[in-house]
Amino acid sequence: MTRPLPSCELCATSGAEILWQDELCRVIRVAEPGHPAFCRVIWNEHVAEMTDLAAAERRHLMRLVFATEAALRRLYRPEKINLASLGNVVPHLHWHVIARFAGDRHFPRPIWAEALRTGDPVIPPVTTEALRQAIILALAEEEGSGA
Ligand SMILES: [Zn+2]
Repeated sequence: MTRPLPSCELCATSGAEILWQDELCRVIRVAEPGHPAFCRVIWNEHVAEMTDLAAAERRHLMRLVFATEAALRRLYRPEKINLASLGNVVPHLHWHVIARFAGDRHFPRPIWAEALRTGDPVIPPVTTEALRQAIILALAEEEGSGA
């Protein structure tokens, strides 16, 4: 068991509103201007790299990443999903799961690049509860598929 680091924002706080969680990891909804369909899947313990996890733990985490991707696809019908695990700023294992739209500020660049345009495409709002339910459903489907 790794000790929480008080100086780490993902150890010290949930990161944002929690959509789903178990004892190992959590999914939060990220409030990022211009990118409304953005979740983060966070390993609860303070570890930096995927290979710090046991193989079964990695599978558990990725099942949640894929369920989050499936939920975002189902609810938003995006142009593309971006999956990213960087951790250069906060070296606490987490995956960004970001639905991208052809007219979004940065498309086709990563959302962290310089914006290419101002203004946002019309993206139908999705409630936190709808997102939560879609993740639960997608997780059940992931588990049912023998993953
Ligand atoms: Zn941490």
